[in-house]
Amino acid sequence: MSLEGRVALVTGGSRGIGRAIVEALAKDGAKTAFIYNSNSDAANATVEAMKADGYEVKAIQADVRSKESADKVISDLAEEWGSVDILVNNAGIIRDGLLATMEPDQWQDVIDTNLTSVYNFCQAVTRQMMGQRYGRIINMSSVAADVSNPGQANYAASKGGVEGFTRCIATELARRGVTCNAVAPGFIETDMTTAVVELAGKEIKKKIPVRRLGQPDDIANAVLFFAQESSSYVTGQILKVDGGLTLGGL
Ligand code: NAP
Repeated sequence: MSLEGRVALVTGGSRGIGRAIVEALAKDGAKTAFIYNSNSDAANATVEAMKADGYEVKAIQADVRSKESADKVISDLAEEWGSVDILVNNAGIIRDGLLATMEPDQWQDVIDTNLTSVYNFCQAVTRQMMGQRYGRIINMSSVAADVSNPGQANYAASKGGVEGFTRCIATELARRGVTCNAVAPGFIETDMTTAVVELAGKEIKKKIPVRRLGQPDDIANAVLFFAQESSSYVTGQILKVDGGLTLGGL
């Protein structure tokens, strides 16, 4: 287990992609905490399942949109477990709608949850990671940063922002042993995509060269690569994990 002795924090780790990331990091030896917002049943179920398998995992209720919450979560965790070595900014939402009718709160909620949260947690953890001259930050983007669908101006803007932010802070932190990379998933089967998969699952699969929808474990696998100490020469990268969806074939 190569993450033995490391402490990891995953935002939005109670369900979907985040839960698979929590499982992958814990199984690789990291003491892993995750944040959820409102669904305590899902958070408890994740903790219980991991504990039953003998892994040390804890759930923290917090709203990633709040800078104060981010500062508190990071300082409490560093005090309790000694450090924060791996930060995965995964929490995210969609609130789709065409621009003509998009309400200001529909815009702001997506920007705050998907992008401002990344600033909140990266800033909260940066001084500590720079001080210990070690850190792995992995942010969750989306192929929507590059490939647009009508009705996702807020979501596309938030994920484009995540990618630019990732590249910029990678240059700021590299000399201190801290890497920052992002994963950009394609269509992954989670609660977030249930409705669209029910409506157009077969059509979507036809557009994916590997001919299947992605699973949360596909994304966790990529995160695990960036989280390794041995990935120290990889920074500022955006890794698409989309089954070839964005390759633009016939
Ligand atoms: P999901 O199943 O809907 O899970 C979202 C997670 O984020 C939950 O744990 C949720 O906690 C948490 N969360 C949401 N708002 C929060 C807030 N304000 N504060 C704290 N936690 C909050 O989503 P997913 O499909 O796994 O997506 C995870 C990430 O991958 C997102 O960034 C998403 O944009 C990205 N992504 C997903 C896909 C896909 O196809 N699924 C594709 C590309 C990118 P509660 O349950 O407690 O609210």
